[in-house]
Amino acid sequence: MGIAITLRTGRSMRGIKSLVKRVLPPPATIHLIGLRNYLVGEAEIGVLKDLVDPRRDSIDVGCDRGAYAYFLSRLSRKVWCFEPLPASAAFLEAAFAGASNVAVYPIAADASPVTKGYVAGLNAEHFQPIDRFFAREAARYHLALALPVKTRLRAELLEMPPQRADDDGVLRTIWWSLRLRYWAWHVSGQSREPEDIRLFVLYHDPKLTPTVPHSLGLSKGQIGVVYAFAADWMNGANDVVIAHEMLHTLGATDKYNAADDSPRFPDGYGDPRQVPLYPQRHAELMAGRRMLAADRWEQATDLDEVVIGEATALEIRWPALMR
Ligand SMILES: [Zn+2]
Repeated sequence: MGIAITLRTGRSMRGIKSLVKRVLPPPATIHLIGLRNYLVGEAEIGVLKDLVDPRRDSIDVGCDRGAYAYFLSRLSRKVWCFEPLPASAAFLEAAFAGASNVAVYPIAADASPVTKGYVAGLNAEHFQPIDRFFAREAARYHLALALPVKTRLRAELLEMPPQRADDDGVLRTIWWSLRLRYWAWHVSGQSREPEDIRLFVLYHDPKLTPTVPHSLGLSKGQIGVVYAFAADWMNGANDVVIAHEMLHTLGATDKYNAADDSPRFPDGYGDPRQVPLYPQRHAELMAGRRMLAADRWEQATDLDEVVIGEATALEIRWPALMR
């Protein structure tokens, strides 16, 4: 059998290893590492299944290439990997990266029959343009991950998240953020499907509320509160806001000027190297607006008009996942 060959550590084996390393993306390589260690690895790997409690987290200090982490990730609730070597840490990050599971909880923010009808009509397909947008951008960045975001619609919530005023000071904001996280924990998690990010989307009848407050995404707790419109002609604009807040929960920052909402150069431009510079073909997601001329910009109304810029990709750690 092939086991005898894998035990040899001669030049031919090293050649095969480096070939595998170059050809296979990390998520596939980690399965081979797991298989190799299952067949000829340390004997301790065999007893993990008797030692590890599936209801508890595991800690792997000095993960190296993830031989133990691979098995621990299957046996325990979660694995915390500590790896000081940057090359190994980057490999582990790419190998274990999975899609971000995004749960969308719709909420009718007013009593309008328009809003109620719109929310009742939402279905699983409704948020697919968001998943397709992230898949398209992931391909553009040559990510090892084909589907970086998986959005799932949850049942409508009948209660509103804690509200916050724009003029709240630091202490009030901290208190509100704690209350929001408690509220999110309380109302979500009924589904068995994984939820890495929870987005609470508050739909408004545009006739009653022509302007909605600023949406927000918290990286602590990975929670977003999105103010959206209950109108089909606003679906594209809603998707842009949802994707924007989603990336806030993953650590991305705004790329527009607070004074006038204009995209910040260069990070807030779809392509800061475009010649001529104006009009920009795309908006950058964390700027949310596309530059038409040096002194003119417009809100992106659909994710087809939007890209993820290099600075944002860096903030959400995409380069670590690049093939
Ligand atoms: Zn923002």
